Amino acid sequence: MDKIITAGKPIRCRAAIARKAGEPLVIEEVMVAPPETGEVRIKIICTSLCYSDITFLKLKDPPAFFPRILGHESVGVVESVGDGVTEVAEGDTVIPIFLPDCAQCGDCTSKKSNLCSTFPFKVSPWMHDGSSRFTDIKGETLYHFLFVSSFAEYTVVHMANVTKIDPVIPPNRACLLSCGVSTGVGAAWRSANVEAGSTVAIFGLGSIGLGVAEGARLCGATKIIGIDVNPEKFEVGKRFGVTDFVDSRSCGEKRLSEIITEMTGGGADYCFECVGKASLVEEAYASCRKGWGKTVVLGVDKPGAQLTLSSFEVLHRGKALLGSLFGGLKPKSDIPILIKRYINKELELDKFVTHEVSFEDINKAIDLLVEGKSLRCVVWMDK
Ligand SMILES: [Zn+2]
Ligand SMILES: [Zn+2]
Repeated sequence: MDKIITAGKPIRCRAAIARKAGEPLVIEEVMVAPPETGEVRIKIICTSLCYSDITFLKLKDPPAFFPRILGHESVGVVESVGDGVTEVAEGDTVIPIFLPDCAQCGDCTSKKSNLCSTFPFKVSPWMHDGSSRFTDIKGETLYHFLFVSSFAEYTVVHMANVTKIDPVIPPNRACLLSCGVSTGVGAAWRSANVEAGSTVAIFGLGSIGLGVAEGARLCGATKIIGIDVNPEKFEVGKRFGVTDFVDSRSCGEKRLSEIITEMTGGGADYCFECVGKASLVEEAYASCRKGWGKTVVLGVDKPGAQLTLSSFEVLHRGKALLGSLFGGLKPKSDIPILIKRYINKELELDKFVTHEVSFEDINKAIDLLVEGKSLRCVVWMDK
């Protein structure tokens, strides 16, 4: 049978649409336009859920928009390419990543930055050119999400948001590298550059915090302290390299930072805030060691939230505080390294996948994450 040519034509396929805030996704037929200049159309193999999908499903007002195709952790195969695309071709396995990497601007060519200036990261409901490639069957425009929109059988992504990968890694592991797990692992490896023998304190043991633990373990940290409001997280954390646990609800009279300072004999070498709370960033900063301590901020706080730090302490204690988007990773050069480390059985991705469902059951995957039952639930488009 002749192969059906789809390149250059719109594709009709299924997508899970967020129609209204807080309501279950609706699987509908949609039209996916061909890729424009510099873009590719990707057949999604599988996608996993990250908490940001839920946050944007629950939000009623901008930056939330409806109707929208959510999803930003995935892996797929290039179906067709737009004009000017030379980096990938039809049939290549790729990971779409929300953080752009044009590989050419001053930031993308610098080892010191992963914040592209040509395509600055923003939480936009459009492609980079301010338009959409999706319409529903009635012709109504559907919004994009984080330049990826992977809750669809086909999606269009700009090359700045596409990383070509070696298909040797199974798809249900590759998709994890698009967001949460990479962010955590990268924060320990790239942003903090954790050294062997160091002490690490992780504030919040959700999937990003567990990713940090995995990254710190890979870097050879010897003491990895997990801090959470839920003591059940310690058992989970142990599997990811957490060696000590602090239940932040039972600190008594003491500040969390006093407890961490005592446990580490003067402060942790590296602290990671993975919750998104200004007061916890301050506590993490106070928990790291004078002279060389480094605090990395990964949590997403409410817009407008402010930090309060004593300038006396900043001057006299010599510590560093830095923010880390996507764990400081440069998608096109660092993701292939993480894949190699997975293949070499160093980076353990398998333990992050707690559930797998078919596309029809995508709302089940949402419930599992909301109820705190899953770390990562993989949704297969074809099974
Ligand atoms: Zn760039
Ligand atoms: Zn995410």
